[in-house]
Amino acid sequence: HRDALSLSARGLAKSFGGVSALRSADLDVPADTIHAVVGPNGSGKTTLLNTITGYVRVDSGTVHLGGRGTGRRSPHRVARAGVGRTFQTPRLLPDLSVLDNVLLGAYARERSPAVAIAAGLPRARRESAALTAEAMAYLRFVGLSDVAGQQAGALPHGKQRLLEIGRALMARPRLLLLDEPAAGLSMTELEALGRLLREIRAQGVTVVLIEHHIELVVEVADAVTVLHEGATLLSAPPATALSDDRVLDVYLGR
Ligand code: ADP
Repeated sequence: HRDALSLSARGLAKSFGGVSALRSADLDVPADTIHAVVGPNGSGKTTLLNTITGYVRVDSGTVHLGGRGTGRRSPHRVARAGVGRTFQTPRLLPDLSVLDNVLLGAYARERSPAVAIAAGLPRARRESAALTAEAMAYLRFVGLSDVAGQQAGALPHGKQRLLEIGRALMARPRLLLLDEPAAGLSMTELEALGRLLREIRAQGVTVVLIEHHIELVVEVADAVTVLHEGATLLSAPPATALSDDRVLDVYLGR
């Protein structure tokens, strides 16, 4: 069990040219919780994730991880601070094996032994065996150990999404940000994802997910933040948030 990271983002604003992607977004996520970010298309969800992870530089606003301000950190440094993420479209190396894709997740870790492995030192070989064992454990965790040797690109879409989560876990994150992990999953895979997210939380990882599948949100999320036109409309437990008149107005366009 690790020490999960809390996340607090305040007043985030970001414009791309004339387009205001975020106007005033707040997001408060206590450690050891699962938090869903929902909102209509274009409401700023992905931009919010990108600002937290350093892929996009905010115009104004602050982000704290585990109570510490992150300033304007690069994606690499945010990752080293314990923040993992997946993308809306899985970013795997399709020609490599499933196992190798998970092993690549170790590069985001502090003091990665990658250089030693490249040098082929005996100690590196032991570390390499330990890394492989760890990667296999994550593959079992996400239910993909039976396809470890297959080409990642040959996996069906749903399994590629699970593989991305396995790779993100290999970096040993304490906060994991998932951009629409349920997109394109079958009903069975969706149920498996719900179980997986709860297990990830139980292991000391705070989880933030952008999600359109309301059933999944209700099932797993401790709280929901609703974004609308780049601003936080409200944050509340799922049942409260999703029955709020303001939220229904936004979704139904009333
Ligand atoms: P969501 O994830 O909720 O669909 P996004 O964060 O992707 O919303 O986008 C919010 C708004 O910002 C949209 O109007 C989108 O077109 C715009 N936007 C996002 N990223 C960029 C970018 N790199 N350049 C220009 N406009 C962008």
